[in-house]
Amino acid sequence: MTKWRRLAIEAGMEFFRASGAHRLAEPYTRGLGAILMFHRVRPRLEQAFEPNQPLEITPEFLNALILRLRQRGVEILPLEAALSRLREGAPGAPFAVLTFDDGYRDFVEHALPVLERHHAPFSLYLTAGYADASARLWWVELEEAIRRLDRLDVIAGGRRILCEAATAAQKQSAFAEVYAQLRAGDEAELLRVVTALSAEARLEPYALTRRLCLGWSELRALARHELATIGAHSMTHARLAKVNCESAIFEMTECRLRLEAELARPVPHFCYPVGDPTSAGRREFELAARLGFASAVTTRPGTIFPEHRDHLLALPRLSVNGRHQSLAALDILLSGAPFALMNAGRRVMAA
Ligand SMILES: [Zn+2]
Repeated sequence: MTKWRRLAIEAGMEFFRASGAHRLAEPYTRGLGAILMFHRVRPRLEQAFEPNQPLEITPEFLNALILRLRQRGVEILPLEAALSRLREGAPGAPFAVLTFDDGYRDFVEHALPVLERHHAPFSLYLTAGYADASARLWWVELEEAIRRLDRLDVIAGGRRILCEAATAAQKQSAFAEVYAQLRAGDEAELLRVVTALSAEARLEPYALTRRLCLGWSELRALARHELATIGAHSMTHARLAKVNCESAIFEMTECRLRLEAELARPVPHFCYPVGDPTSAGRREFELAARLGFASAVTTRPGTIFPEHRDHLLALPRLSVNGRHQSLAALDILLSGAPFALMNAGRRVMAA
């Protein structure tokens, strides 16, 4: 997400928070329900340099969020049930689907007990290469490398980024600068730069993946859980729109095959890595259809409308993340009002 877009969203959230206008708009903008997106769940670390904090929530917040959903009369549905409601156009209470990306270890320790306590169904979108410990969590690597280094000197996007990274503030701005450059570039450059920084910081990337992500034996137990739905999230977490067609097909099918073989169940649902319009677009939506996926989720923000019945491979999600980790923000997001404003009233953004 660009800085300007993020600032516009922040301003929008503040407008709704102050005015309460979303409550008036809600009956028109809420839609049928929402797919909520989460990544890591763990207690707050309270460190000065935590650039990936927007990708995590605390177990207490997850608990409060589920209570608020139920208090609002929102039904927490398994993915399949929400999709059938959408396909059949069956009326019902507004729904929410809880989805957790990547397959982090902290899910079992911090999220699962909360979900079990509330008997709340959940979906896990798994990257097979993370379960193998053969793929890279490059954004965490970048964070860890910058945490260890006092100074950065890399070539990214055809220019040299040379900056001090001794203090927390310097590290924060160094992270923001390199991250923006890597997101703008292609997959090969991203891995080249992160590999160089990790080597300089003496990080072991695959040990990091193993430490943070669930392995196959734990995933097998989770997949059997009565509340769980398993979806595919690619082999290496490559941004599919940034790789050639054959590679994108490999990322999507191989992940599905591996998950189906390891977990002994069909895996018809997909989640595009990173999932914004620069990482998943029309070609990827068409590929998901050709490869026979029943549904696929993006990180394009929005609620679900009846019109999404014809766009099951480009479903939007709501990120109730570290940056918007409050029940007030949850209410605003669930109202759908910010997206009606942002998308000028268009309900489906699937182009
Ligand atoms: Zn992911």
